[in-house]
Amino acid sequence: MNNEVQNNMVVSLDYTARLKDGQSIDSSIGKTPLRYLHGYQNIIPGLEEALTGMKVGESHPNIIVPPEKAYGARAEATEWLPRNIFPSDGEIQPGMTFAADDESGETYPMFIKEVKPDSVLVDYNHPLAGETLFFEVTVVDVRPATPEELAHGHVHNGDGQL
Ligand code: ZN
Repeated sequence: MNNEVQNNMVVSLDYTARLKDGQSIDSSIGKTPLRYLHGYQNIIPGLEEALTGMKVGESHPNIIVPPEKAYGARAEATEWLPRNIFPSDGEIQPGMTFAADDESGETYPMFIKEVKPDSVLVDYNHPLAGETLFFEVTVVDVRPATPEELAHGHVHNGDGQL
């Protein structure tokens, strides 16, 4: 099926994501649709699952994605770190994200919560951890991925992104 969302297809999607209270946290409306390669975990698992089998032009008014299929449960994962381990050039502000490395060299994000002159409170939870997300979606287009896109596991937009 060439007009249906399936693995190895590039999907163009109009979407609005909301929190439980209805607050919009992200939307493609008024911008270009999101394009992603289906089946490669380029979007959160719960949304990818719900989109599977949808056809071009089809809409869904409210896909409900629980935390475990979105950004995970919220854990006790904050700590104060010395200010001097952060880059000294430029300001550090709540809401910023930095990359941290663990002992095995794996990189993971940490989110800045609070900044004091000598220390910084970081949270290793994704800002949307613990949140159930609500998506309004329309499948705008579906096309087979190119061999190069399949090899890379992501979409090439023709804008130099490789
Ligand atoms: Zn690539």
